[in-house]
Amino acid sequence: NLPRIILVGRPNVGKSTLFNRLIRSNRAITHDRPGITRDRMDGVVRRKDMPVFGIVDTGGITLDAHAMVVEGPEGIRGFEQDILNQTEAALKDATAVAFVVDGRDGLLPLDEHLAAHVRRKGLPTLCVVNKVDGAEHEDERMAEFHALGFPLLAVSAEHGHNMNALVEDLTALL
Ligand code: GDP
Ligand code: MG
Repeated sequence: NLPRIILVGRPNVGKSTLFNRLIRSNRAITHDRPGITRDRMDGVVRRKDMPVFGIVDTGGITLDAHAMVVEGPEGIRGFEQDILNQTEAALKDATAVAFVVDGRDGLLPLDEHLAAHVRRKGLPTLCVVNKVDGAEHEDERMAEFHALGFPLLAVSAEHGHNMNALVEDLTALL
């Protein structure tokens, strides 16, 4: 069975874009049936025809859950609890974690909260600093994320920047 890497992070950091990018780059090699791959939560990342690891996107129901709780008695705390619950469920059968943050937003309290949760699991973790679309100020943007205590890699899921390095670094966690 393939090892499984779980994409974890607060909403809107680019987990699903990253997931689609990692899967799409291999789609020609795997099954190219229209309609199934794009929205799938589970995928296989391949390298030179060889499957290297399974990848799992999380947070797919976050927006619905948000809509339900935002008016509710628990408000935003219910929203955060929902994210934690989803993360917890996904971490159960994870081999390693890709902890995704937004290099433009910088480090937010919810990132730190989720990171503490991930750290308690003791799984090998790479912090993927997404939305580093250009090289300018890259070092500055990266600096504050060192506080999370994970190794870092800057990527741009949207532009496909550093995707090979990402697969390499994730493979090295296994
Ligand atoms: P998720 O909630 O973590 O799954 O985030 P999404 O993948 O849905 O992305 C949230 C938003 O960030 C979308 O509007 C994406 O187009 C945008 N986004 C994702 N990756 C990048 C990136 O590398 N650079 C920029 N500038 N935007 C990105
Ligand atoms: Mg998503």
